[in-house]
Amino acid sequence: MLEALNRIQAIVGNAGVVTDPVRAHSMLVDERRHYEGRAAAIIQPRTTRELAAAVRVCFDAGIAMVPQGGNTGYCGGATPDESGAQVLFSLSRMNRIRDIDVRGSILTADAGVVLAAAQSAVAVHDLPLPLSMGSQGSCQLGGNVATNAGGLAVLRYGTARELVAGLEVVLPDGRVLSDLKGLRKDNTGYDLRQLFVGAEGTLGIISAVVLRLYPMPRAWATAWLALRDIGDAVELLVSLKSRLGDCITSFEYISREALDLVLGSIPETRSPLNTSDSNYALIELAAFDDGAALTEEFERTLADGVAAGLVGDAVIARNEGQRRAFWRLRESIPEAEKRAGGSIKHDVSIAAGALGDFANEAIIATLEQFPRARLSVYGHVGDGNVHFNVLAPDPLAADDFKRDNARSVSSLIHRMACERGGSFSAEHGVGKLKRGILAELGDRVALELMRQIKATLDPKGLMNPGKVI
Ligand SMILES: Cc1cc2nc3c(=O)[nH]c(=O)nc-3n(C[C@H](O)[C@H](O)[C@H](O)COP(=O)(O)OP(=O)(O)OC[C@H]3O[C@@H](n4cnc5c(N)ncnc54)[C@H](O)[C@@H]3O)c2cc1C
Repeated sequence: MLEALNRIQAIVGNAGVVTDPVRAHSMLVDERRHYEGRAAAIIQPRTTRELAAAVRVCFDAGIAMVPQGGNTGYCGGATPDESGAQVLFSLSRMNRIRDIDVRGSILTADAGVVLAAAQSAVAVHDLPLPLSMGSQGSCQLGGNVATNAGGLAVLRYGTARELVAGLEVVLPDGRVLSDLKGLRKDNTGYDLRQLFVGAEGTLGIISAVVLRLYPMPRAWATAWLALRDIGDAVELLVSLKSRLGDCITSFEYISREALDLVLGSIPETRSPLNTSDSNYALIELAAFDDGAALTEEFERTLADGVAAGLVGDAVIARNEGQRRAFWRLRESIPEAEKRAGGSIKHDVSIAAGALGDFANEAIIATLEQFPRARLSVYGHVGDGNVHFNVLAPDPLAADDFKRDNARSVSSLIHRMACERGGSFSAEHGVGKLKRGILAELGDRVALELMRQIKATLDPKGLMNPGKVI
């Protein structure tokens, strides 16, 4: 081991090895503080060449490797185990924008570029990268692709998978798979690139990405509205889609409890409506003209929603400040949950038509078993994806509540989602946290194929072992 680590140090230089204990500690604990690992070394290469050479050393010496991006993942996928025998590869120093092809509308960047930095770099060219989420100030493009991240505009632009136009990947034996051409059409055999999207670092380390960019909308129409029921959100979305089509970029659901958590703990937030409804939605549309016609049709659709009893009340943001204030409410929910002692998180997806029934039944079933629990239900209803989070009755006893009940609460919610043809992990992945659930609830044939693919690409089982499968 020591000899291998010395060789890696010679490859990446002193600056490429993290020795500061405070920094190291932050990289060895996961975002939700569920896991704390140890590492033989934390390596931060600067280039694909350095990364590939260091991986090759690990492969030859039989050392397990754990890729890490911004360490914002919710499933413990980027945390090494407790043995102290694994090498953690942090991509943070691989943070170069390689190219912005304005004509081709594609961005080529090192995998360690932070999502917010990539957004700023392309915004200058009026070509937004339509991937955004609450963690964008820390998560990295490589991590986004490795988790097939979703976020707030999936409804219009898809998940990270749909945005990826090319990848460069360092394979577990140190070979580099380079697919950075960014071609829209390329039917030359198997689409290997897609194997690494959502693989959570179990098949290789993504060292660079090519992402599709889209034209910058000229105007937005953003509404905050009260709904009678989460099922009505789905009805409203159907009506909006039929009248406004592709203009809808986001359709987010927020329960009253989730909103109250934000209002109670995040400074300078206030409810956009003076109502005490139980359900809210944040809807955003984008236009490529001044947006006046779109806003008019939006208002008409919402008014029809009020007449039909789907919508209680609604307010459309009058200016950018108000639009941002609406989004702040939605984006602050994870932080507000944290401040309330944290939650038992669930990230389930279900066919849009069944989402309302699922959510209502899951609320009843959860409160039957845990009558005093607080619920924070919110999410990307437009994608059939809801975060169904369960909080302790008393924030001061949150750790005890989570420790004692996480397994049974999660089993209940995951089973309910899977029994209705849904998924127990819509966007957060599997990592370490949900590996057992995948083994239990996953499709047998799919699991067999995943194991075969893993064995082919990573025959020594060195790449992020103990994660996903
Ligand atoms: C406040 C908050 C809001 C969030 N909102 C959303 C949301 O709306 N939608 C959503 O999908 N997620 C969301 N997340 C979860 C998380 O931010 C995403 O999963 C993100 O894509 C993880 O990126 P990361 O760089 O932090 O990856 P990490 O946490 O570092 O790693 C995640 C996984 O990817 C692997 N990995 C990381 N980098 C690489 C690489 N270069 N090559 C190969 N494997 C790699 C790791 O091994 C690990 O298995 C949120 C998290 C927080 C804290």
